[in-house]
Amino acid sequence: AVPLVVAVSTAISAKEGLLIRNRASFERARLIQAIIFDKTGTLTQGRFGVTDVVLFSEDLDREELLKYAASVEAHSEHPIAQGIVTSAPETLPVEEFQAIAGKGARGVVSGREVMVVSPGYLREKGLNVPEEISSLAAQGKTVVFVLIDGQLKGAVALADIIRPESKEAISLLKARGIKCLMLTGDNRQVARWVAEELGLDEFFAEVLPQEKAEKVKEVQSRGLIVAMTGDGVNDAPALAQADVGIAIGAGTDVAVETADIVLVRSNPLDVVAILDLSRATYKKMI
Ligand code: ADP
Ligand code: MG
Repeated sequence: AVPLVVAVSTAISAKEGLLIRNRASFERARLIQAIIFDKTGTLTQGRFGVTDVVLFSEDLDREELLKYAASVEAHSEHPIAQGIVTSAPETLPVEEFQAIAGKGARGVVSGREVMVVSPGYLREKGLNVPEEISSLAAQGKTVVFVLIDGQLKGAVALADIIRPESKEAISLLKARGIKCLMLTGDNRQVARWVAEELGLDEFFAEVLPQEKAEKVKEVQSRGLIVAMTGDGVNDAPALAQADVGIAIGAGTDVAVETADIVLVRSNPLDVVAILDLSRATYKKMI
């Protein structure tokens, strides 16, 4: 039988959009020593808008560059893709679309191969990341590169918005003695910018989707009880690996299904609420 106090807490929390899917994890939540947050869509809104378009070639203009990039991105579900599509005047038909997990997307547009990729992907292919990009990244902007038939043609910078509640959530968690970390596939400069804005203790950047669960393990191996908070398909293995997996509810079905706890309102302050509720609930029972 479920103790009454636990049943009551579960009911109260559900009314406030905190869904407890795994009661043992809810109990463990009071013992959490470190919380790892996914960046995009969790600490930030995950809604990107294009801020800058930089050309590295004179054979096309900004609008054309955006049109090619957007044509490919129209087939991707990544939040960056949505930002690029919104900014483009029109899109063209695409053949052979392929998502490159954690790195970008590609497709064939008007017979030309178009790729939209991360700085990490460029480096991996032995291409130089142009210097003029670093001032954009230093402002916290996410920069992706556009390649046409293997040639670097330009870059698109996008800005996301830090959720207004993220900073307070981090400071409340730190006040409770909990270490706050961030995990992201985005580049190091953007990650550092967000980490400094929010006062995070530590961050991991340029983490590929399949490496996210490894990072959770690494923090657990320090002897810490670890919660992971994320929203994306990419985050599901990391949520499963964590001692407590918390999905931000506006996220994907996969993340929600893997999580122990779902925060329906997508508000990072609800992480604090669930922790406090766990502490209050199980303190009464001793
Ligand atoms: P996160 O969930 O932390 O934002 P992802 O693993 O989804 O990270 O993506 C990591 C990086 O891969 C992005 O910051 C971007 O540089 C690149 N990327 C992934 N998908 C796309 C895409 N469709 N278009 C452009 N870049 C992409
Ligand atoms: Mg994500």
